[in-house]
Amino acid sequence: MTMKIFEEIESEVRSYARSFPRTFTKARGEFMWDGEGNRYLDFLAGAGTLNYGHNNPIFKKALLKYIEEDGITHGLDMQTRAKGEFLEALNDTILKPRGLEYVVQFPGPTGTNAVEAAMKIARNVSGRHNIVTFTNGFHGVSLGALAATGNSHHRDAAGVSLHGTHRMPYDGYLGTGIDTTEYLDKVFSDSSSGINSPAAVIVETVQGEGGINVASLEWLRNLQTVCRKHKVLLIVDDIQAGCGRAGSFFSFEAAGIEPDIITLSKSLSGYGLPFSLVLMRPELDQWKPGEHNGTFRGNNLAFVTAKAAIDHFWSDDKFQLEIQRKGDYVAQRLDGIVAKYGEGNFSTRGRGMFQGINCVNGDIAGKIAKACFAKGLIIETSGADDHVLKFLCPLTTSDDSLKMGLDIVETSVSEVCAKIDKLPEEIVYFESA
Ligand SMILES: *Cc1c(COP(=O)(O)O)cnc(C)c1O
Repeated sequence: MTMKIFEEIESEVRSYARSFPRTFTKARGEFMWDGEGNRYLDFLAGAGTLNYGHNNPIFKKALLKYIEEDGITHGLDMQTRAKGEFLEALNDTILKPRGLEYVVQFPGPTGTNAVEAAMKIARNVSGRHNIVTFTNGFHGVSLGALAATGNSHHRDAAGVSLHGTHRMPYDGYLGTGIDTTEYLDKVFSDSSSGINSPAAVIVETVQGEGGINVASLEWLRNLQTVCRKHKVLLIVDDIQAGCGRAGSFFSFEAAGIEPDIITLSKSLSGYGLPFSLVLMRPELDQWKPGEHNGTFRGNNLAFVTAKAAIDHFWSDDKFQLEIQRKGDYVAQRLDGIVAKYGEGNFSTRGRGMFQGINCVNGDIAGKIAKACFAKGLIIETSGADDHVLKFLCPLTTSDDSLKMGLDIVETSVSEVCAKIDKLPEEIVYFESA
């Protein structure tokens, strides 16, 4: 097999394959290997799908045992032991200790499936069609979810008009010191604002694809207050920020809010298997049997690994403390890199192990990512202009590997910046009051 086969018959739509043009054959923990035996440190981690690293041996053991015993692999949405055990683990270890009471829906296995289901529930239960979404939000690329997604590169490919959503400024969009939930409250209160009372607001607590934009905890609390005041459902899309990435199992825990609906996917299976779910307050579960169906609702192999992930990592607070410790280290290193080479123009952002460097310009961020790859580090960019270097290191990355990866980033930033006369300055559209 040669690399040619990909260019010969695989669609032009491929994307990550272009940034990392190697053929990968093996992966373990925070490392991947290509066919020539070169090792790469993976700070992309399946765009946040491999929070526990590649092929985690504990999950693999549970999975192999299940397969060996001819456990159910596919069973539509029938009751299986694997599903029951996953639900028990989720309820006993994640929901109950947090005082959360939710009904669990298994939509199709991808994130966008969960977002579609969440938006449908909100619309059907409220009898309203409009859904408020935020600037730079990313919620998937099937039509309903795409209408909630901000990025024009993705939106322009829709082929039909996208509707049923209304965009509002995310936290920080109008500059620091402006609380955009006040604007939301105003338009919800004003019958002539031109914005129909929405069914729901859908939000990421930290925008991943949007460029690691972090909503303040206070803003999230204010958002919940505005939603409750106007009887608008609050959907937290925790597909990327959840499962520990932002420092706790749910990304909103630090804010102390209780969303009406939550979507989870990406690292939920723990093993990189396709798996998503929707959590909803019990009174919202007004589905009729089979109304929202799908052949792959509930991936039994993913039930097995997801349960193993919950049992192993979330039964006490050890892992959470580890994430916070490692997140602090990453943040401190990034601050150091930016102070040394960023000429006051680069800046850092993030919460927990969800961190980024805003390089202002996509060309520069892309060059840094490329320089990192040449040194054996897989790292991607995100944001409107792909201007943010995005750190999605597995949460299980060892201290030595974290240091090694950040050293590579530091060298790469210094190399790229040395070749540029003057770094671009961020354009500030709005000055705060
Ligand atoms: C990745 C992502 C999605 C979409 O998930 P897919 O599995 O790619 O469909 C939705 N919302 C957020 C916040 C995401 O990061």
